[in-house]
Amino acid sequence: MLQVEDRVANRLPQAIQALQRYCRQPGISSQGVGIPETIDLIGQMVIEAGGQVRVLNDLGGNPVIYAEFEPGPEGSADKTLLFYNHYDVQPPEPLEEWNYPPFGAEIHEGKLFARGASDNKADLVARLQAISILQEEGLPCRIKFLIEGEEEIGSPSLPLYLEKYASLFQADACVWEWAQKNAEEKLEMVAGAKGLCYLELTSETADIDIHSAYAPVADNAAWRLTQALATLKTADHRIVVEGFYDEVEHPSESLKDIARNNPYDTAAASSLYGLKGKMIAADAARAALLFEPTMSICGIESGYTGVGVKTVIPRRAKAKLDCRLVPRQDPEDIARKIRRHLDKMGFADIHVELLSASHPFRSDMNHPVIGIVNATAAAVYGEGRYALMPNYPGTGPMHLFARYLGQQLPIVAIGSGWWDDRIHAPNESIRIKDFEEALGYMVRFIREFPRMDQRAES
Ligand SMILES: [Zn+2]
Repeated sequence: MLQVEDRVANRLPQAIQALQRYCRQPGISSQGVGIPETIDLIGQMVIEAGGQVRVLNDLGGNPVIYAEFEPGPEGSADKTLLFYNHYDVQPPEPLEEWNYPPFGAEIHEGKLFARGASDNKADLVARLQAISILQEEGLPCRIKFLIEGEEEIGSPSLPLYLEKYASLFQADACVWEWAQKNAEEKLEMVAGAKGLCYLELTSETADIDIHSAYAPVADNAAWRLTQALATLKTADHRIVVEGFYDEVEHPSESLKDIARNNPYDTAAASSLYGLKGKMIAADAARAALLFEPTMSICGIESGYTGVGVKTVIPRRAKAKLDCRLVPRQDPEDIARKIRRHLDKMGFADIHVELLSASHPFRSDMNHPVIGIVNATAAAVYGEGRYALMPNYPGTGPMHLFARYLGQQLPIVAIGSGWWDDRIHAPNESIRIKDFEEALGYMVRFIREFPRMDQRAES
């Protein structure tokens, strides 16, 4: 049989065609465009790769696609790999800023341009095409897919389907969507995500706005709110809510090593964002991104901010606050602690509402599948050309999989994104070379996956 590289190279034209066909089918969850057609197309793609499809639609929302591939005669029936993907994409607007049609899947200078190409159609196609390649020798294990259609609108129905169909989705490991090559062309994969506690704080001091001459006697909602906010965090970025850091899991030495071995490019980030001040935690930026919980004021609104002068006491002030949480912190618990803190500081009148809560998740970085992820990356990308981080600095629904499918389930995001792939923006693209590498990665990874127990013993 041919070497992996040759089999991947032979398959590539067909894989690109499959990707173009998929990219030409819009499936926009926020606008309700093309959902049934997209589901039909994925059904065909799964069947073409030798699998079976079940469309789960009994719990409302956009259907969740379940696909399953049986192991070949020599494969391990007791080893199951689960892939997570989503078939919905962001809206393509503003259309006038696209250089090529967003659903044309045109290829120019080695890049395929389409809404959803990177987020996350190329990943699904690479996985299905890798399975097709491996069908020639028989699959080495059982493979399942969960492909949801509401990721781009916050996965509102996903917990319902995961809860009801938990036994259907049982697996020994889960491969998540999307990973990205950074500006130094180093592939960054992750095995977790931070959690989120998103709050709205409101201060109301009167029924109407008041002439500011009455400031000696009438309280001001903008002052109330900003004074309350100022009690939450110090100017040197320490969150001073009592108990905020209590549950924070302190990173092990091996996790700290990952941070040390993958320094964050502070100069590049400073210039990219045009930071006006010194970067926070500049000496240990990677560790801060990976391991530190945060508190950010995302927006603040009150009173008059138009042109010229208007003297007024605003009756109302509102702020949005987000906390990114690290393992063992609980968003509801953090919301309660912030409430208690405000009460204690004399701000019981500030109304606090929890708008969004998401738990943090981090895979056990000593799980044998992590070793396979790294070894495969070394073979495909080369030593030093990849990094597997314990978590994103951002948030995602990985914790739902842990909650319903088992806290011990390792989850790793692997994919073919690149630093300028412009996901969610006009001119989204993937590079054909990255797609080919991702295809090669998946062939090797799936082959190696059932051997993870031998790895653990060796
Ligand atoms: Zn997205």
